Amino acid sequence: MDADMRQGRLDVPDGSGEFDVVVLGAGSGGYACALRAAQLGLSVALVEKDKVGGTCLHVGCIPTKALLHAAEVADSARGSEQFGVRATLESIDMAGVNAYKDGVVSRLHQGLTGLVSSRGITVVQGTGRLTGPRTVEVDGASYSGRSVVLASGSFSRTLPGVEADGTRVLTSEQALGLTEVPRSVVVLGGGVIGVEFASVWRSFGAEVTVLEALPHLVPSEDEQSSKALERAFRKRGIRFHLGTRVESVEATDAGVLVTVEGGATHEADLLLVAVGRGPVTDGLGYAEQGVTLERGFVVTDERCRTSVEGVYAVGDIVPGLQLAHRGFAQGVLVAEQIAGLDPRPVEESTIPRVTYSEPEVASVGLTEAQARERHGDEVETLTYDLAGNGKSQILRTQGFVKLVRRTDGPVLGVHLVGSRVGELIGEAQLIVGWDAHPEDVAPFLHAHPTQDEALGEAHLALAGKPLHAHS
Ligand code: NAD
Repeated sequence: MDADMRQGRLDVPDGSGEFDVVVLGAGSGGYACALRAAQLGLSVALVEKDKVGGTCLHVGCIPTKALLHAAEVADSARGSEQFGVRATLESIDMAGVNAYKDGVVSRLHQGLTGLVSSRGITVVQGTGRLTGPRTVEVDGASYSGRSVVLASGSFSRTLPGVEADGTRVLTSEQALGLTEVPRSVVVLGGGVIGVEFASVWRSFGAEVTVLEALPHLVPSEDEQSSKALERAFRKRGIRFHLGTRVESVEATDAGVLVTVEGGATHEADLLLVAVGRGPVTDGLGYAEQGVTLERGFVVTDERCRTSVEGVYAVGDIVPGLQLAHRGFAQGVLVAEQIAGLDPRPVEESTIPRVTYSEPEVASVGLTEAQARERHGDEVETLTYDLAGNGKSQILRTQGFVKLVRRTDGPVLGVHLVGSRVGELIGEAQLIVGWDAHPEDVAPFLHAHPTQDEALGEAHLALAGKPLHAHS
């Protein structure tokens, strides 16, 4: 039996064929599903109009985090004297920064395509459309699956009447391609994308103003985290206006003119529009085949099943957190179900969140406000200041670990602010995910000196036995 037969694939001469699973979209959700399905012995067609890896790898998480690392290097050079090292930051060479960033993306892309091909997945290059309940058509060829997985991802939204021309008004994808550091930038939206780019550009020397309609930066985070980020941004010279809704944007010869509610204006060389991402579901035949959509998102149950039997949806097109790691988990969940396993649904409430600005903001579980909404007065919080943490002092970073627990009960939420604290979120996630009580965590040692220790100290303190903290 040849490999194709063994995998149950029946190719027909025009390239179309029948598969166990047809995945529409090879971003984080789609490729994870394809990889796991193939690992479980299913035949898989993975349809992609652009590059395997999708937004996260090519124009999202990976390139922005490379920019943020270059920004950290610039900050280290600029601030070197506080460590007794005399370095001078001469300039930011965007060609060099882009070469570094693109190199990271390209190596990961090469690795991923190798992995996809080593698992025997058929990658179909082109724009797919659902033309039957289980059929995806690509350039006239049909790919039928016993199951179909919709994973078409998301796009950068703009405001009505605001067109991202790629020159003066940019989406985050376009901002990744800048060949020079702008002198001044207005960032529309103080959510995750807005503050990450604001952070990069400030480190690179630009004048940055963030305009956010809600009362805080990263408004979905615990208010204490938002306020700490705002303090840090203020110190870094990043300007921001909160409770400020942008109404119109005009491209001028010199740059952009942004008008906010009430009539005040802001001028800059460039405007980044970061007001959220919308689902890519229009014109793909989903509704026509009976897939229920709500405001453009695909409605699913907790097992990612859509309203059409055998059709699943994963990633940013499913309402909820638009995060690559949620997409991976949903993709794996779907593949395992199709293969007849009985995996646990993805627990949305314990998905970790990290904003990679300087300082970083990371969290998992409930904010204090959410916990109080659910449990009233039965909520206790503890904030451990990074001032008491040796490694954070060494790094010269400020911030905190904040724990939110149910009184005499488990830790419901962990909130972190400070340089590099995103790396601590794994332990926090286990604590919240396993409903651990601070007393369960307290006996576990944390290596000294690490920033991780701050998590340990916070739990010790909440368990009533603080070590390096005032009781
Ligand atoms: P977002 O929803 O996080 O933030 C958009 C912000 O724009 C909101 O705070 C909103 O109040 C504000 N806004 C909307 N209209 C406005 C107006 N007219 N005037 C002023 N402010 C306005 O969206 P985003 O930052 O664009 O990110 C999109 C998605 O991508 C998010 O779901 C995010 O989680 C994800 N993402 C995650 C990461 C990460 O995990 N590190 C990084 C980038 C993007």
